[in-house]
Amino acid sequence: MIHIVLTSCCDALVISLKTIYQSTCLPHGYLSVRKYLLKYPFLLASISVMGLLLIFRQIGGLDTWEMVIYDYLTRRQSHTSQESRILVVEITEQDIRTQQRAIMSDQVIAETLASLQMHNPAVVGLDIFRDIPQPPGNTELREQLKFSNVVVINELGDLAEGMVPAPDYVLSERVGFNDFVLDPDDILRRHLMYAFDEEETFYSFSLRLSLKYLEKQKKNLKVTPSFLQIGETVFPRLRPGAGGYQSIDTAGYQVLLRYRSPDQIAHRVSLTEVLNGQFDPASVENKIVLIGTTARTSKDYFSTPYSASVEGNRAEHKLAGVLVHAQLTSQILSTVLDQSQLIWFWPEWMEIAWMMSWALIGGTIAWWLKHPMELGSAVGIALTSLFGVCWMLFVLAGWVPFVAPALSLVITAGCVMTYRAFHVTHYDALTGLPNRSLFLQQAQRTITTIPKKTPALSAAILFLDLNRFKVINESFGHQAGDQLLIKVARRIKACVPPNNPLARVGGNEFVVLLSRIKDAETVAAIADEMQAALNEPICLNNQEIFMTTSVGIAMSAIEGREIQADTLLRDAHTAMYRAKALGKSRQLFANSMHTVAVSRLQLESELRQAIKHREFVLNYQPIVSLKTGRIKGFEALVRWQHPKRGFVSPGQFIPVAEETGLIIPMGRWILEEACRQMHGWHQKFSQSQPLVIGVNLSSRQFTHPKLIDEIEQILVETQLDHRTLKLEITESMAMSDVESAIDMLLRLKKMNLTLSIDDFGTGYSSLSYLHRFPTDILKVDRSFVSRMENGDEDAEIVKTIISLGHNLGMGIVAEGVETESQLETLRLLGCEYGQGYFFAKPMAAKDAEQMLERSPTW
Ligand code: C2E
Ligand code: CA
Ligand code: CA
Repeated sequence: MIHIVLTSCCDALVISLKTIYQSTCLPHGYLSVRKYLLKYPFLLASISVMGLLLIFRQIGGLDTWEMVIYDYLTRRQSHTSQESRILVVEITEQDIRTQQRAIMSDQVIAETLASLQMHNPAVVGLDIFRDIPQPPGNTELREQLKFSNVVVINELGDLAEGMVPAPDYVLSERVGFNDFVLDPDDILRRHLMYAFDEEETFYSFSLRLSLKYLEKQKKNLKVTPSFLQIGETVFPRLRPGAGGYQSIDTAGYQVLLRYRSPDQIAHRVSLTEVLNGQFDPASVENKIVLIGTTARTSKDYFSTPYSASVEGNRAEHKLAGVLVHAQLTSQILSTVLDQSQLIWFWPEWMEIAWMMSWALIGGTIAWWLKHPMELGSAVGIALTSLFGVCWMLFVLAGWVPFVAPALSLVITAGCVMTYRAFHVTHYDALTGLPNRSLFLQQAQRTITTIPKKTPALSAAILFLDLNRFKVINESFGHQAGDQLLIKVARRIKACVPPNNPLARVGGNEFVVLLSRIKDAETVAAIADEMQAALNEPICLNNQEIFMTTSVGIAMSAIEGREIQADTLLRDAHTAMYRAKALGKSRQLFANSMHTVAVSRLQLESELRQAIKHREFVLNYQPIVSLKTGRIKGFEALVRWQHPKRGFVSPGQFIPVAEETGLIIPMGRWILEEACRQMHGWHQKFSQSQPLVIGVNLSSRQFTHPKLIDEIEQILVETQLDHRTLKLEITESMAMSDVESAIDMLLRLKKMNLTLSIDDFGTGYSSLSYLHRFPTDILKVDRSFVSRMENGDEDAEIVKTIISLGHNLGMGIVAEGVETESQLETLRLLGCEYGQGYFFAKPMAAKDAEQMLERSPTW
C-alpha cells in the first residue's frame, strides 16, 4: 500500500516538475528523478511533508505558534539602555484620588501643559481625549493646545463605533491616531505607523510625535508604495507572510515591534508631581513628553509579549496605552537616530528553502540512523540547533520561522521512520525486494484484476531456486553468499517485464509474478531468458561461479481453475521441488503434484504417530572382513512397519523425519536400540575381536548440540564398549560445513568411538580437507562397486579410493557387494571389509543372531 502511494506520489511530483520546467531532457530526466526519489524515499517524504505544511502554513495554521516563539525570544533579549528622549507623565490612581474625578478637568490638563512648557519640551503629546469639553478650564486648555509643539490624539476606530475626533481647534498636522493593530491573540506586536484612504492620510500618534521631534533636524517623512522614509531611514512596509506571520492584515504601513522591556521604555513622573513642580527640568527640556493615564481603572491597557509570559495573570502585565505610545515613538527615534535595526525578514522563497533544509535534515537523520536512541538524540540536537539559529538571528533583529521548520523536521523524520518500519516488515533487507507477504498481496491484486471475461489471460508464478547455494555459501563465506544473492536478484529483475512483482521468499528462493499471460509458452520464454541470464558466470571474490537454477511454474487459469495467490505460490513451489527431484531445470505445475505434496504431509503426520506407537524396528546387515571371511560387525538400518502401508523404506521417511526434526527422537531410539542389541551379542558371543555396530547419523543429529551428551548417556545405560560403536556420517554432511564437522568429529573421537565416512565418492569432497578428518573408515559408495565389473575405468576409481583411504590411515568398507567376482576384485585391491547382498541382506535381530551362531565364512 505504502509502496503504491510512494510510487504515485513520485510520479505526481515528477510530472509537476515536468510541467514547471518544461524540461527538454525529459523523459530521460523524468526517469532518473523517479529512480532517485524511489531510491531515497526520504527525499520524497521531505518534499511531500513540506508541501502539506506549506498549505497548512498558508492558511495561517502555524501563526499562533510562531507568535509564541516571537514572544519568547522578545522576553529573552536584553536591552541595556533606557529611552532617555521620552518622559511619561502618568495619571495614576493616586492622582485621580487627589483630583477627586476620574476624568481630569480641562483645567488640570491645561495647568500640567503650562507647567511643562515652562521647561521647553521638544514635543508634548496628549494621550487623552478632549473631543468633549471637561469644564472648568476650557479656554485655558484651548490656549495651551495652540502651541505648535503639542500633539493630540484622535481615534479612527472602526465603522461600527465611528471615530473619536481631536478637538476641532487643533490643526490636523498635530493630530495622530491612537489606534493599535492587535494580533488574533490580542497581543500587540505590530505598529501601524501610517494609513490612507482615497481622501485622507492618517499618521499614528507616535509618528506625529517623532516627526515633530525630528523636524528641527529636517528629517521629513516620505511615503513610497513599499516603504516609509524619515530622513535617510527607511521603514519597509510589513508584507503578508513576513517571518512567522502568514495570515495577518498588513493594511497601511506597519512595522514589527522590537520591544524594549517595560521598565526601559521611558522615565515616568506623576501628574501631581508635575503640578507641584516636583520634577527635574532637564527631564523635560528638549524631550518628548507624553501625558496619559496609567491608572488601572482606565482600561487603556494592552497585552504585549511580556504579558504572555504570565499565564492567567495577563492583566497585571499589560502595558498602559501611553507607555505603548512611548514604546512606538522610542522605536522610531532609535531607528532614525541610533541606527538601531528594525526587525527584518527573509523573502518567501528563502523561508521555503529554510523549511526544506530542515525537512531534509529530519529525513536524512531518520533514514540513516536506525537505533531509536541515536535517532531521538539526533532529532533533539537538530531541534536545539534550529532554535539556536533562530535565536541568534533574532538577536541580530531577524525573525525567521521556527515552528514550520521544526514541524518539517519532526514530521519528515516520523514519516521516514514509519516508512522504514513498513519496509522492514515488507521488504527483504538484503536485496531490497518485497518479501513473501507483500508479494502475496501484490499477486492477489494482480490476479483479481485480470478480467474474468477473458479466460485467455492468466497470471503465472515462477518459483526460482538456486541449486547448490548452500555449498557456495559455505565454501565462500556468508558475505560472498549475500553478494551473490544481490547479483542474482539484479539479474532476475532485468528479465522481468516492468510492473510484474518480484520477491525473495527464502534464502535462495525468488518468485516472479507474470500477469496477463496468454499461454504457457510466453512464461517458458521468460523463464528461459531468466535461467540463461543466471547461467552466466557470476564473479565473486575474483572467482567465476556458475549457478544453475530450478524453476517451478504455476498458472492461475490453467484447467479453468480460479485460484488464490497463496495457492498459486504453493503450486509453483511444489513444481520447483518436482523439477529438482527429476533433475530438470524447469517444471510446470500439474494437479497430480499436489497429490504428491499432500501425501508427503500425510506421511509427516503418520510419522509422528509411528514414533508414539513404536512402529520402528532395526535390521542388521553384516559387515565382513575380507581377510578372514568372517563377520566383523553389523550396520543397523531402520525399518518402518506401517500398520496399513506395510513396509516403508528409510529412503522415503528419513528425509521427512529430517526436515521436520522428528529425526532427533527417532535417532536417539535407533542409537539406544542398536547399542543394547550389540551389548547383548557381546555377552552371548565372546570373541577376541568384539563385533562392531555401525549406526547412521543424519545431518540434523550430527549438528544437534546435545549429541555428545546423549551418546554418553546411552553408552552408560547400555554398557556397550565405546570402541565397538561406529558412527556413520555421509560425505556430504561432513563437507557442508567442514570446520564444524571436524570439530564435532574430534569430540566424538575423544570418546573412543569409531568414525566412518559413508557413501564416499558421491559428495564434493575436497581432498585437502580429508586428511583433517579424524575418521577410521571410508565406505566406498555402492555405485562404484556395482560398476566395477563394467570396465577397467571404474575398477580404477575404486582402486584409487582404496589407496587414498590407506594413505590417510583409514580402513575401507566396500558397500553393495553383490557378486563373487566383485568380492574377488576387492580382495585383490586390498580392501579390508565388504557389505552387501552377496553376504546378506539387512535382517531382523533374531536372524542376525542365528547367523552369528552359524558363524559363516566367505
Ligand atoms: P546407507 O547408510 O548407505 O545404507 C546402506 C543401504 O544400502 C541400505 O539401504 C541397505 O539395505 C542397502 N544395501 C546394502 N547392501 C546392498 C546391496 O548389495 N545392494 C543394494 N542395492 N543395496 C544394498 P536402506 O536400509 O534402504 O537404507 C537407505 C539409507 O537410509 C541408508 O543408506 C541411510 O542413509 C538411511 N538410513 C537407514 N537406516 C538409517 C538409520 O537408522 N538412521 C539414519 N539416520 N539413516 C538411516
Ligand atoms: Ca550407512
Ligand atoms: Ca552407504
